[in-house]
Amino acid sequence: MKTQRKLKRGIGILFLCGLAFTAVLCRKSEQPPPTSYQNSRYYTPVPVDPSRLVQAEYPRNLILLIGDGMGVSHITAALTANKGRLNLEHLRHVGLTRTQSLNRYVTDSGSAATAIASGVKTFDRAVGVGPDSQAVMTILQMAHARGLATGLVATSTITHATPAAFIAHQISRDDQEAIAADFLDTRIDVFIGGGRKYFTERGDGRNLVRELEERGYTVLESLDAADSVLSGPLAVFTSEDGNPRVPERGDLLPRATATALRLLSCNPNGFFLMVEGSYIDGGGHDNDTGRIVDEMLDFDRAVGEALAFAEKDGNTLIVAASDHETGGMALADGSFAEGRVEAAYTSGNHTGVMVPLFAAGPKAALFIGIYENTGIFDRMTEALGF
Ligand code: MG
Ligand code: ZN
Repeated sequence: MKTQRKLKRGIGILFLCGLAFTAVLCRKSEQPPPTSYQNSRYYTPVPVDPSRLVQAEYPRNLILLIGDGMGVSHITAALTANKGRLNLEHLRHVGLTRTQSLNRYVTDSGSAATAIASGVKTFDRAVGVGPDSQAVMTILQMAHARGLATGLVATSTITHATPAAFIAHQISRDDQEAIAADFLDTRIDVFIGGGRKYFTERGDGRNLVRELEERGYTVLESLDAADSVLSGPLAVFTSEDGNPRVPERGDLLPRATATALRLLSCNPNGFFLMVEGSYIDGGGHDNDTGRIVDEMLDFDRAVGEALAFAEKDGNTLIVAASDHETGGMALADGSFAEGRVEAAYTSGNHTGVMVPLFAAGPKAALFIGIYENTGIFDRMTEALGF
């Protein structure tokens, strides 16, 4: 009897140990990324003489940079991680924008980008269409109609919601093949991003890369090859789908920004360029502090490229905006001396808080204050005299 009881107890203990081990294993596989992050890639912001940014009353060029999902905490995390310095600080006219969509307190990137690109509040997931599902004119299309050169740069697919809202008109952001086809309907001088497959592997059998080439585009698959291109129109697909993360893709976004600026600035009438740091949002959704910091610093280096150009030019308005906050991110601790941040999150989705906007150059003072995201469009078109 005694041995039997001992045996039973032994089996019981073994069973409990097994359960505990499985629980530990399960928890490990479901574990979120660490909320603290120690940066190791520091850089010095570009030196800027603020007086050289404004050499005219009105800007000839407009560079709009959008940090997707970028809230004040994301910026503070980047500022801390880079030991207290960012290029964004050179953009001294600061505002706050309200982000609600037509039908939701918490917006998605499609309706938010449509508000910024066209000044229209629309329903979630829409790109470039108003509440009646009809196409709305975008600032990129207005710029083209007035003889300005135009460009789009993104780390996501170029057909993703944010860049799409500047050139496409679709009820659903998910229809990236239809969005790709819309790139053939507006003459755009430079676009650089991922998403080649939406132009080539299509349900309708069209090969949009060939169609672009027939219209005179140089179509490339790497930025290196773009260095020898002296004039547009140029399309660079840096990936079949979205681009990889910062450690793999390196300085793709700042370099793409510089390439676009080099080509667009050949137009004496000026240009409109939108540059998106697409994956700050992804870091927010994953509550991944390291990814947020990496993507934020990458975006800030693109801001640095814009500043370096604008300082030489003197007629360029720079606007760095956001479409919404992602992650409900807060900073629990950090060290400017060590470049370390510790974050906490209240959401795995977008949130409804106001997001910051920074501007520099001619007419930058228009962007001070609190206003709707549609007000970004109103101010940009006022500055350009549209
Ligand atoms: Mg986006
Ligand atoms: Zn998102």
